[in-house]
Amino acid sequence: STVLMNGEFIPREEAKVDIEDRGYQFGDGIYEVIRVYNGKMFMAKEHLERLSASSEKIGIAISYSISELTNLLEALIAKNSLSTGILYMQFTRGTSPRNHGFPTDDVTPTFVAYTKLLQRPLENLENGVSVITVEDIRWSRCDIKSLNLLGNVIAKQKAAEAGCYESIQYRELSVTEGSSSNIWIVNGEKIQTHEANQFILNGITRQKIIQLCNENGMELEEKAFSIEDLIDADEVFLSSTTSEVTPITSVNNVPVKEGKVGEVTKKLQGLFVDAIIGECGQ
Ligand code: PLP
Repeated sequence: STVLMNGEFIPREEAKVDIEDRGYQFGDGIYEVIRVYNGKMFMAKEHLERLSASSEKIGIAISYSISELTNLLEALIAKNSLSTGILYMQFTRGTSPRNHGFPTDDVTPTFVAYTKLLQRPLENLENGVSVITVEDIRWSRCDIKSLNLLGNVIAKQKAAEAGCYESIQYRELSVTEGSSSNIWIVNGEKIQTHEANQFILNGITRQKIIQLCNENGMELEEKAFSIEDLIDADEVFLSSTTSEVTPITSVNNVPVKEGKVGEVTKKLQGLFVDAIIGECGQ
């Protein structure tokens, strides 16, 4: 396959990073994952704006404009003839002798992007997934889409060991988010998810769901809820770029209501698919 490295298209095997790249040594960088449907990026502008916001929050200067990045990523998708999949991209602070403080301004960020085939998770969308709850041990700047993912990695591993799809993290009494997803509960007609602050990543899928709720007169509150609220909810679902709107039918081995996919979740799934088709076609 062809990958993009520092603005050039090269074969996957030729893409190499230095052992003193700060992404490798410190996780000092930021990333994005963008869905590709029908060869077209979904919500690319929102992803690239979040990338730009993340880069500003940690002081990495990206020398490409959003339109330059869009053109490069579209070319990458075309070169790999990708229809349904994802595009992964990351910027690190660059290569420099190891030292915690930032290197001098002449050190340029390392930029890598590549595509991967990935079908829509149709079975999970239809039947739902199981999750466990775990303590949120991460730092307090989870709003930055940083390469430092150790807390998330450990949480996801615990889910895998429990035979579950995802871990739902809680900080003190509040549910924050999944290891790589945002978490939602539904009671009656009311939908609730953690507010966008420094304790969660403001998902692009989350933002689309909020827009769909507003456009369709669905009741929505952006406010943290407790583990008890999670356990007692009528419906629970998670959202992410790769998982879209995935129903959660069991938490800690206990079924959510009757363990069936809820009606509000199904309605949102339908609206979300309409949004994909609207932007990327059938
Ligand atoms: N929260 C975390 C910690 C994530 O890693 C992700 C995505 O992988 C999300 C939320 C969902 O974000 P998005 O909808 O932009 O994929």
